Amino acid sequence: MSGTAVAESKPATGYETLALYIDGGFIGADGRKTEPVLNPASGEVLAQLPHAAREDLDRALAAAQRAFTTWSRTSPLERSAVLRKVAELARARADAIGRNITLDQGKPLAESVGEVNVCAEHAEWHAEECRRIYGRVIPPRRADVRQMVLREPVGVCVAFTPWNFPFNQAIRKMVAALGSGCTLVIKGPETAPSAVVALARLFHDAGLPAGCLNLVWGVPSQISEYLIKSPIVRKVSFTGSIPVGKQLAALAGAHMKRGTWELGGHSPVLVFDDANVEQAATTLARLKLRNAGQVCVSPSRFYVQSKIYDRFAARFIETIKSVNVGNGLEKGTQMGPLAHARRVDVMEAFVDDARSHGGEIVFGGARIKSPGNFFSPTVVTGLPDTAKLMTEEPFGPIAPLVPFTEPEDAVRRANSLPYGLSSYVFTESLKTATYAANALEAGMVNINHFGSALSETPFGGVKESGIGSEGGTETFDGYLVTKFVTQC
Ligand code: NAD
Repeated sequence: MSGTAVAESKPATGYETLALYIDGGFIGADGRKTEPVLNPASGEVLAQLPHAAREDLDRALAAAQRAFTTWSRTSPLERSAVLRKVAELARARADAIGRNITLDQGKPLAESVGEVNVCAEHAEWHAEECRRIYGRVIPPRRADVRQMVLREPVGVCVAFTPWNFPFNQAIRKMVAALGSGCTLVIKGPETAPSAVVALARLFHDAGLPAGCLNLVWGVPSQISEYLIKSPIVRKVSFTGSIPVGKQLAALAGAHMKRGTWELGGHSPVLVFDDANVEQAATTLARLKLRNAGQVCVSPSRFYVQSKIYDRFAARFIETIKSVNVGNGLEKGTQMGPLAHARRVDVMEAFVDDARSHGGEIVFGGARIKSPGNFFSPTVVTGLPDTAKLMTEEPFGPIAPLVPFTEPEDAVRRANSLPYGLSSYVFTESLKTATYAANALEAGMVNINHFGSALSETPFGGVKESGIGSEGGTETFDGYLVTKFVTQC
């Protein structure tokens, strides 16, 4: 059904058995505090998630510290074998894990299952790449001296992962930490926890020794503060919003902990007069609504050159209108609900602000009345650069379209915000593509397609969008320390 929600809700039979995972054991509530996990398509309670008590956190830290003494000395072949097995098991279980992601996160089933299958590759890539963590030999000044540079795992790591790609974001951190020889305590997203519990089961069943990976849940600020301050912890990895990233980075800095920060953005799109307009409009409209726009690299500010603006807008709006919104488990659904009720309020605030700035809501613009957190795909035109939609990441299914005349002006506007995660350029001109790729302040530039987030390519931002990369040959950099050895 186009633009309206499918109200049906499925029973939560077969949903993941939620648990903590500490020192090789899965632990249920057993008297601990719990919180309900909701289905965003219906509001039904799927299960209760146990919170870690203070003693659980201490046990997880101690287990990770103990396991580090042996895991850090394992052969890369041994670590590689575990990661390969994880990839194999992930593919075998992708349908079940994917269904649970749709239940607690809301995205269409094909996207959920696809997330698991594609991200199995991250385990394989790290299984291969961890065998190539090389040091180097530096020519000495004296013949009787040998100088070596060793790269060693940093130690016990902590990671905090978000709800938008619950499997993807967690497995990336797990395979990078474990592949490098580090051990890990991770806190996943409490609102969409099934994928991270499933990941703990994958590693457990793949034969990862006890204590190498530990999973905890709770009040995010309390858990992160306690773990980051612990003297056992040597490194922090966080994916989430810029404000929370800044808070955690400040805490990590105060305790001199390394960090990898994958934060938000507000990805500019530059569509030039010489682009393949229909292909650009269709590709971008579909990409915009992937995961209901709750993607840190989602195209989110559309600057379109004036000669083709009307043609682009027409095809873009037509494609947006054609997208089926509904329960992610229903066949034919192309966009699910927003993950949380609060995100619907955020979308309404963006639309109100757009109206107050003279914007025209050319499609959508309102919640879809049904159970669940459904918001209509929305296109807004006629906004000034000062409107909230042009300056703050909507993290939802809203697209603002604005025209530009000069390429330099489009690049200046694209670079005018403090973010720099992803960016998009559509042009048939090699000269324009090269100009834009060089001029855009972004960690990733996609030209004429979307090609980021592969295992073998680095993913990360510049400016306030973060520090460090995940994936690519850069992937282990944040998990290794450099030791210089000079020997006479
Ligand atoms: P939020 O800032 O409240 O939370 C973002 C994530 O961080 C959540 O997963 C949350 O559990 C976690 N978190 C929050 N406080 C934390 C703390 N003190 N310690 C550890 N973890 C903590 O925002 P939200 O309303 O959940 O999400 C919306 C915003 O988050 C969006 O505007 C978007 O920019 C950002 N976000 C970014 C990504 C990403 O991939 N970069 C993913 C999810 C959300």
